[in-house]
Amino acid sequence: MSGRPAQQQEFTRDNLEAVLKRRFFYAPAFDIYGGVSGLYDYGPPGCSLQANIVDAWRKHFVLEEDMLEVDTTMLTPHEVLKTSGHVDKFADWMCKDRVTGEIFRADHLVEEVIESRLKGDKEARGEAAAPEKVDDKKRKKKVKEIKSIKLEDSVKEEYETILAKIDGYSGLELGEIIKQYNIVNPTTGGVVEPPIEFNLMFETAIGPSGQLKGYLRPETAQGQFLNFNKLLESNNAKMPFASASIGKSFRNEISPRAGLLRVREFLMAEIEHYVDPEDKSHPRFDEIKDIKLRFLAKDVQSAGKTDITEVTIGEAVKTGMVDNQTLGYFLARIYLFLIKIGVNPEFLRFRQHMSNEMAHYAADCWDAEIKSSYGWIECVGCADRSAYDLSVHAARTNEKLVVRKSLDEPLVVEAFEIDIEKKKFGPKFRKDASKVENYLTSRTDCEKETMAAELEKNGKVVFKVEGMADEVELDRNFINIEKRTRTEHVREYVPNVIEPSFGIGRILYSVLEHAYWSRAGDEARGVLSFPPLVAPTKVLVVPLSNNEELNPISRGLISQLRKFGIPSKVDDSSASIGKRYARNDELGTPFGITIDFQTIKDQTVTLRERDTTKQVRGSQDAILEAVRAMSFGTASWDDATKDLAVFEAQEE
Ligand code: AMP
Repeated sequence: MSGRPAQQQEFTRDNLEAVLKRRFFYAPAFDIYGGVSGLYDYGPPGCSLQANIVDAWRKHFVLEEDMLEVDTTMLTPHEVLKTSGHVDKFADWMCKDRVTGEIFRADHLVEEVIESRLKGDKEARGEAAAPEKVDDKKRKKKVKEIKSIKLEDSVKEEYETILAKIDGYSGLELGEIIKQYNIVNPTTGGVVEPPIEFNLMFETAIGPSGQLKGYLRPETAQGQFLNFNKLLESNNAKMPFASASIGKSFRNEISPRAGLLRVREFLMAEIEHYVDPEDKSHPRFDEIKDIKLRFLAKDVQSAGKTDITEVTIGEAVKTGMVDNQTLGYFLARIYLFLIKIGVNPEFLRFRQHMSNEMAHYAADCWDAEIKSSYGWIECVGCADRSAYDLSVHAARTNEKLVVRKSLDEPLVVEAFEIDIEKKKFGPKFRKDASKVENYLTSRTDCEKETMAAELEKNGKVVFKVEGMADEVELDRNFINIEKRTRTEHVREYVPNVIEPSFGIGRILYSVLEHAYWSRAGDEARGVLSFPPLVAPTKVLVVPLSNNEELNPISRGLISQLRKFGIPSKVDDSSASIGKRYARNDELGTPFGITIDFQTIKDQTVTLRERDTTKQVRGSQDAILEAVRAMSFGTASWDDATKDLAVFEAQEE
């Protein structure tokens, strides 16, 4: 595309939202019942935009990398999510206004109040940035906290440090900040209670008895892990490989107030790339190593700063800032995907999780954050989850989730082994015999070593098995634990998992903001400059008048476009041609084909480009060919139209 002209109106969210509402990109669900926060319905252009983003995702990742796609269930039994850690740990911190009962997500409350105080300080110093946006003005009336008050320099610095570290605070730390800085309900000034944990999963019961507790899945990942053995087999046991899944996930967000950016039901696209923990190199790393990315590293944030380091991904992996090649490869591929679908690279950065923010098992984790009028928002998470998920599910189910690799050279290994007197287990433990056996066989080498020492010292081992009321006691009549040397011809390992996880709604909204502008002097006339690849409709066919001779030509063009698989629409209303184009600029339709009276004489038509409003004229075949070349993102306007005659027309 030729891109947007430099002179354009300043972005205001209110104007974009008016377009999105008017053209029904999306709207609050259950609108006529008053709506429910965090739930949205997509209308026709929103649906097409989403489908095109998902299609681009599938081509960019699944096809390009030969990934194995699965579609797994959203309803998930309690046991699976208990094992994965979600039942105990998938929670956010919330606090309640003592008087009104209003509930806030603790970190968001701290962020909102501190940001508003810093803004008030800027205003008091006369440093306020560009003129206030309309929506901010409205909010300012409502939010008492936004006052133009000068802060002491030291307080300002403390506030900036808190904001830089906001994603890493525990509930306790948030509680301390709330107390120390007198953070209150921003609309009423009311005191809030100390933060408490709130699990984000929607609970349900599967089946009529109500006995099988379950949840709506909070991510698609677990369904992929549980199918690991089948996927490995489908891949002919070859490593590394990746699975992928696109589907809805559900999170009972505490207080969703940021449109599509924080919702309770959303489309996720996730990849689980399985890799040998001893070799995290990537065979295609060389293809992307020279791509420059904007990094916000963890040590920078821990120091209370937000400075960006812009280096190539090759450099970032070499210096160890990014843990390994495979993780680096995906960061670059995520970047390429996002800019392909219309994210502005200037508003894209990769933020590393701080050590206290990262799950204990994760080796490294980066978020692709996109800047919009809501600030920097995580749109893609990319984590090295190590062997955690496969290990915990294997331990819980006694199903081995491992890769077996033939060794070129046999390996001599020393390991602890437990010999079990199975014959004696039955009479002693009866129905619990297999539980005890499973417990013993699933111990790690470290645990076996500790048990061996206990057996040596006390002549017995004592342990607790889940599901058994009493402790189990075993002496040498039942088990023997010894360190033995054995020769192995096969190496068995639990693969590590690198997981890029995309929230499609967040990405879609960011693309909408980055694509939106209005022509200078014509604020009411919004344009959505989607790349043709994701534009909901690619071509608008416009007969100049309702003349009978023009209609068959537009029908013919539409039928050709359909044959090419190019989504198109006809606008044969009586509105002026300029109005008809403007309506479709708002929908982000990149091309317009006009049929005029010249067409009747020589069968030629004109082609208009949305952003520059440039036009060319040519035969219908030549114009269709140009549209085809541009619609799927391969040819630029200049290339595709270089042999066509420039056409000067007035748009009114
Ligand atoms: P997480 O598993 O929390 O790292 O989330 C993975 C991705 O899901 C994020 O990068 C977001 O794009 C998306 N996401 C998470 N929570 C929400 C939400 N409440 N609304 C919309 N998208 C979300």
